[in-house]
Order: sequence, then structure tokens, then C-alpha cells
Amino acid sequence: MRVANFNGGPGSLPVEVLEEAARDMMDWHGTGMSIMENSHRSKEVVAMVDEVVADLRALLNLGEDWAVIFCQGGASLQFAMIPINFAGPGGHCDYINTGLWATRAYKEARICGSNPRLAATSEDDDFTHIPDVFDFNPEAKYVYLTSNNTVRGTQCQHFPTNAPAPLIADMSSEFLSRPVNLEHFGLIYAGAQKNVGPAGVTVVAMRRDLADKARLDVPTMLSYPSYIKNDSMYNTPPVWNIYISGLTFKWLRRTVGGLENMAATNKIKADTLYGAIDGSSGFYRGTARPGSRSSMNVTFRLPGEDLDKKFKKEAQSEGLVGLGGHRSVGGLRASLYNAVGRDSVDKLVEFMAEFQRRNG
Ligand SMILES: *Cc1c(COP(=O)(O)O)cnc(C)c1O
Repeated sequence: MRVANFNGGPGSLPVEVLEEAARDMMDWHGTGMSIMENSHRSKEVVAMVDEVVADLRALLNLGEDWAVIFCQGGASLQFAMIPINFAGPGGHCDYINTGLWATRAYKEARICGSNPRLAATSEDDDFTHIPDVFDFNPEAKYVYLTSNNTVRGTQCQHFPTNAPAPLIADMSSEFLSRPVNLEHFGLIYAGAQKNVGPAGVTVVAMRRDLADKARLDVPTMLSYPSYIKNDSMYNTPPVWNIYISGLTFKWLRRTVGGLENMAATNKIKADTLYGAIDGSSGFYRGTARPGSRSSMNVTFRLPGEDLDKKFKKEAQSEGLVGLGGHRSVGGLRASLYNAVGRDSVDKLVEFMAEFQRRNG
């Protein structure tokens, strides 16, 4: 039996995607072998990857002025690839620090020899909100942000429009959960394991005019232009991970009907859970400020850590799994990724009411 999966990452995947992958396991598309056993240069696999890119383009409304590539090394390798390609030694770049992942990206830029600066930070507020006042460096080559903060449960409700350089966003934990106006963006990326597929592939979309400015004295596997030039096949790409991500893109297009529909369902899920938290007379407390709340990662606490633990344990035995907060902050977190159904959220909210009756 499948559980109600609220894991923060790797997260829940659509049942239809898992079922199709299972059906195809022994004989993918009449090739007589699984997709993992096919050559990545076979016409079938090349066509599959092209189709994955086309589906992603359709979902995000990306024109030909955007390139789509698949990298490895997780979202975390992008923390280094971005400054290496676009800032270089001593190069200026601005960071908006909204939590653990943004802090890591900022530090990585320094390790790579670039000159990152904080255009804004909510660290003094325990990262419970998204800053909306920025001190941009006019010389910055890009402005970096994390659009959804998986650990603290905050999400950008809008994006800076007056940045002096293209925005670059880590969208890992909200990728394809809502339509995003990409007008001010130069690059967006997402590690697959939160919202689209198995860990091991990172989906990167970037404007070609930004890619054209990438530095060229960069090792091949760290160079964005080398991925673009070789259609992500300079070496063997993570074919399985791309394939599963592609099934999720198809699910989003065909079954869900696009990102507007996905966003509407995600909003209902988040409103249901935040409603339960806010209506609990303070028994459950949301940790993110209301104006910055994430629709993907809902972070909350009970009165005391013992109750947090008890809640997590009893929820688990009811088939509600993955409700522990990130190990760096504790508390509780329900991740409501695209594949988490409304029925799972309804079950959680019922459990919460019942738990409060017994422990409130
Ligand atoms: C999980 C996560 C990461 C780290 O991803 P890895 O693929 O493990 O490197 C980075 N950024 C955000 C926003 C995340 O949620």
C-alpha cells in the first residue's frame, strides 16, 4: 500500500509515472531492453531526450531563445557552475540569502574565487520571510536567489524587477508547481528529486544570450556551453533520470493539464493545511511569516519538541510519512509537492485535528 508521502526530498512522484516506468522496465519501446541498457546515442534515446526537452519547453513556455540542458552533481553543483561560468575569478555577483541553500550557493561562489555580495538577507529574522528590499551591485554579473526555501518553508511571491543583471534561480523544491514569468530571468534550475524525478539529474534552462557570455576557460563538465553544444551528451547523461523526469512532464501536460491547473491544486492543498494550522488556536504554529509562506513546504511546530516527536511518530503509524523538519531546524514539515494528492493533505488535516483533541 502506498503511504501519504510528505518527504522533503526525494519526494513523492505521480503513481502514473511509476506505473509506466514499471511497464517499460523489461522492454522499453520495443527495444527488447530497459531504457537504462540502451545506448544514449541510439536514435530511440536521442528522440526520447528531445521529447523531454520539448515537453519542458511547452510547460514553461520557453522559446528558442532558451536552452535546456541536463547536468549531474545535484542542485549543489550548480552552486559552483554558476559563478564559474558567469562571474569568474574576482567577478561580482549578488545573492539574496533566504536560507540554507542560498547560503551554500553564496559560500560556493567565494570558494570558486568569485566576489559574491549579499543584496539582501533574512538571516537576522531566522529566514522566516523573503526580503523585498535589495541593495544591488551595478557590477554584478547576475543576481542569485532561491525561489522556494525547502528548509524554512518560504517562497517568493514575486521576484525583483529592478535587478542590474539577469536573475538566476534555484527552483528545486517548487519546479513546475506554478507558472512563473521568466522575463527577468537568465537561468533557472532544479534538482529533480523534489518535484520531477529521481536524484541524479538537474534540469537547467538558460537564456542563450546569457550562455553566450559564459567564460570559456572552464573544465568541459562544468561548462554550460559544452552541454548546450552537445545536447547534454558530451558524456553519458543520466538517461534513466531524464526519462522519469520526462514522464512527469507528460503527466503535468496530459493528466494535470499544465502549470495553471497544477498551481490551482497546489493552492488548495496549501490553503487546506495552513487553514488547519491557523485554525488550531495556536496548538500548531506556522514558522514562516504569512506573506512568505511556501505552497510546497509547510513548516510548523507544536507546543514543545516532545509533542513534535510524538506527532511525527503517531502520524507515521497512520501512514503519514516524512513529516520531520529538516535536520538543521527540527520541528515539522509537510512537503506538498505536485504528486502529493489532495486526499493525502485531507488525511493529514484530519489527523492533526484528532491529535490536538488528544494532546491539546
Ligand atoms: C534539496 C535542495 C538542494 C540540494 O539538492 P542536491 O540535489 O541534493 O544537491 C538545493 N536547493 C534547494 C532549494 C533544495 O531544495
